[in-house]
Amino acid sequence: MRAWPHKSPEHLHKLSKRSLESAQLSLEGSFAKHDSEEMALRLREIFQHYRPAISIEFFPPKSEDGDRALASKIEELRVFNPAFCSITYGAGGSTRERTLLWARRLRHQFGLETMCHLTCVGHSQMELRRILEQLRDDGIENVMALRGDPPRGVDNWQPHPDGFSHAIELVRLARSVGEFGIGVAGFPEVHPEATSPEDDLRHLKAKVDAGADVVVTQLFYDNADYWRFVDNARRVGINVPIVPGILPFRSVAQLEKFTTVYARTFRGPARVPEHLRRRLSNLEHDAQAVAKLGIDYATEQCRELLEKGAPGIHFYCLNESDAVSEILRNLQTTWR
Ligand SMILES: Cc1cc2nc3c(=O)[nH]c(=O)nc-3n(C[C@H](O)[C@H](O)[C@H](O)COP(=O)(O)OP(=O)(O)OC[C@H]3O[C@@H](n4cnc5c(N)ncnc54)[C@H](O)[C@@H]3O)c2cc1C
Repeated sequence: MRAWPHKSPEHLHKLSKRSLESAQLSLEGSFAKHDSEEMALRLREIFQHYRPAISIEFFPPKSEDGDRALASKIEELRVFNPAFCSITYGAGGSTRERTLLWARRLRHQFGLETMCHLTCVGHSQMELRRILEQLRDDGIENVMALRGDPPRGVDNWQPHPDGFSHAIELVRLARSVGEFGIGVAGFPEVHPEATSPEDDLRHLKAKVDAGADVVVTQLFYDNADYWRFVDNARRVGINVPIVPGILPFRSVAQLEKFTTVYARTFRGPARVPEHLRRRLSNLEHDAQAVAKLGIDYATEQCRELLEKGAPGIHFYCLNESDAVSEILRNLQTTWR
């Protein structure tokens, strides 16, 4: 088992030089295969060898300026040697092509272990198969298999007429297409559409039994919710790593947005625990202090999670590097 940070300075230097050179290439350019091929690891191996396995999630930018900005953020974050990075899959249109481009870029230009997200939204089974084949042929070893959410303005989830209704079907398809490492989503505060917490866990177990290697959780702000979720998952026989998803908030508005829109439960908004509300209430008019609290709070969350044995941390960095860099610097003092 390797301690974190995982890679030697010489190795890092080599990678850094390479990605700085390749960052000059256009996104549409050809993707030369680098010696990164040798290090390709699947999720199962990553979580066997890396403790903790730090991962960072990006989304594909919509413009060339955004591409350039993201390339430099990745460069800043790479010095922390994430075990892998992931790239989200959009609701539709050209952003989906850009997910696949960025997956290749992360893997072959930046030399990072890569997990490409894929959702069932708006795709027939045939299209999903073709995308998975393309990922496999492009040397992307890891896939986050998701159902996805209804497009904006649509209330209820409707599968494509020739598509899949649930993520488990995408897990099965990915298993049949290639030797992918497969991640699936888990919800410490229960998925908003679940008929009950027990049913939600049953469906999660089915995804793991169908071949998922790792569960990555929705964001949460009370570690107690994560530990309860892990205990319950272990009780029903889910034995794969369950990686906590952490989003450091930058403002009260952002915290409200993420807890109500993205992490709402069928009982109401995700919990912002009372002790965090109290700490925020003194800072209402001080934006800088709120952003600092976001970093401090996420550091405290991560430290406790790692100390108590979480297998890694998955950072929702929102294509910014400063908050996650600071948290990782804080954590390195504990985890070197
Ligand atoms: C780490 C992470 C990354 C994400 N990345 C993206 C992304 O890149 N792009 C994106 O669009 N979205 C993303 N999402 C959001 C995700 O797509 C939504 O939360 C979606 O609503 C649920 O996806 P799922 O894969 O958990 O679906 P499922 O596992 O299909 O579950 C959805 C609901 O159906 C229920 N269910 C599952 N199986 C069955 C069954 N067989 N019968 C009846 N009910 C069932 C579940 O209990 C749950 O309530 C991400 C979420 C997480 C946690």
